[in-house]
Amino acid sequence: MSIPLELVRDNARRVLDRAREAAVRSGRSGDAVTVVAASKTNGRDAIRAAYEGGIRTFGENRVQELTEKRAQGAYEDAGIQLLGRLQKNKVKYVAGQVELIHSVDSPELMEAISKRALSLGRVQDILIEVNIAAEEQKGGVPPERLEEILARAGENPGIRVAGLMTIPPAAAEKRENFSFFENMARLFVDMATKKYDNVIMQIMSMGMSRDFEDAILAGATLVRVGTAIFGPRDYGRTEDK
Ligand SMILES: *Cc1c(COP(=O)(O)O)cnc(C)c1O
Repeated sequence: MSIPLELVRDNARRVLDRAREAAVRSGRSGDAVTVVAASKTNGRDAIRAAYEGGIRTFGENRVQELTEKRAQGAYEDAGIQLLGRLQKNKVKYVAGQVELIHSVDSPELMEAISKRALSLGRVQDILIEVNIAAEEQKGGVPPERLEEILARAGENPGIRVAGLMTIPPAAAEKRENFSFFENMARLFVDMATKKYDNVIMQIMSMGMSRDFEDAILAGATLVRVGTAIFGPRDYGRTEDK
């Protein structure tokens, strides 16, 4: 069951307003934070409704879904980013063809993305995913290994590391992840003071529907919001999880 399109449009406006207010409360300008609408499982019409509500960047999790919906014109006049984990055999379908790839966590993946982007004459912006809560079985680089990865960005002229992203544990309570957001912000500031080739610490991607305002208060520059815009996801439509 998807929600009415007018509701998607109004939700999008409301989320953008809330993000602006949180940015101002965090001492920044209202436009300091980008809201990326996480549109997985949602079709073209819902995506266009979110666009009407003011969303200008969409994020997908699966490469195939992104490619299909792009062909349908779902993201016209908007930016498109890959949020989910990228498998190496899918690199060729996205590298050099999206604004930003969020979940990079190995030198091998950096290298594969770089090569593909270069073959298209492009430089691909990526984010390094940090496993900020040191959760087992979760993707992302442990904080203590971050410098090692950043130091290798310079070997890959086809990428630029534009910042960091994290997905903290699924929060049961609204403020539960605040300390993880603060730890991320400290790490981000710390890394920004160091100099690595092909690295600019500009984007800190954290916060989702339940906690994006907390993330912004802690310093996020990009939040990824799905449910609060599109309503609950219907996974019956895709194999995505
Ligand atoms: C789905 C998804 C989101 C959005 O989650 P909501 O809780 O629906 O806002 C954000 N980031 C990633 C990586 C996602 O896969």
